[in-house]
Amino acid sequence: MILKNKVALITGSTSGIGLGIATQLASEGANIVLNGFGEISEIERIKSEIEQKFQVQVVYDAADMAKPDQIQKMISRVEEKFGRLDILVNNAGIQYVAAVEEFPIAKWDAIIAINLSSAFHTIQSAMPLMKKQNWGRIINIASVHGLVASANKSAYVAAKHGIIGLTKTIALETAKTGITCNAICPGWVLTPLVQKQIDDQAARLNISFAESKEKLLIEKQPSQEFVTPEQIGQTVSFFCSEAATQIRGATLAMDGGWLAQ
Ligand code: NAD
Repeated sequence: MILKNKVALITGSTSGIGLGIATQLASEGANIVLNGFGEISEIERIKSEIEQKFQVQVVYDAADMAKPDQIQKMISRVEEKFGRLDILVNNAGIQYVAAVEEFPIAKWDAIIAINLSSAFHTIQSAMPLMKKQNWGRIINIASVHGLVASANKSAYVAAKHGIIGLTKTIALETAKTGITCNAICPGWVLTPLVQKQIDDQAARLNISFAESKEKLLIEKQPSQEFVTPEQIGQTVSFFCSEAATQIRGATLAMDGGWLAQ
């Protein structure tokens, strides 16, 4: 139980990749702070399943990652409840796909707030807690879109490039401490966020879901396999390990070869 007595906060962990990360960290003994939107009954179900399966404490915090004051209050509640915060995974994110001239300004603002600024706010509030114990792991879930672009994703690509810059800056500011900050850059992962893009493409091109899924993978991901939330969870866990102590400011692609092309 390598993470026993550690506390991990994973933003956007009621679904998809965040839930995969929360489950992996709990399986290694960490107490978990879940965050994100969803049906309260479903969130309760996820919470008690993780608690019972791994015998850890799980709390749910409904803070909206678009709201700096709610983020600050969430970190204060973590401190009140556990007295510590060891692992911070900035994962909450949304997507919107449209050409720049049709891109709604409200969507741009929301994507920058949730996919980028929220990480600044969580890190700013969490830093004193991590510094106090001179140990911390900050892992930002960026994307291949933090390193390359795709058309029609201006806000998402800008936010993800931004979070990689933030990752490197925080890594330098903490370089002489026991706190590290790194980014993971997944390619396609089959979560609700991508499901919507597959559905939209199927409707647009009048093709089946299976055909749309295959087309998505063929265009970008040479392995033609999706990355899984479980694999990303295990990589987060590696960044939390002793072996990763001197990995600082890194961007690790998990993309089935997307960026090798
Ligand atoms: P998802 O839609 O399954 O999950 C997103 C999570 O974020 C949910 O728990 C949702 O409730 C939460 N969330 C959304 N807005 C929020 C807000 N304002 N406040 C708090 N929580 C909020 O998506 P996912 O695919 O699991 O994405 C997770 C992260 O991984 C995102 O940052 C995304 O950009 C990134 N990512 C995903 C893929 C992919 O292919 N799915 C690839 C690369 C990177």
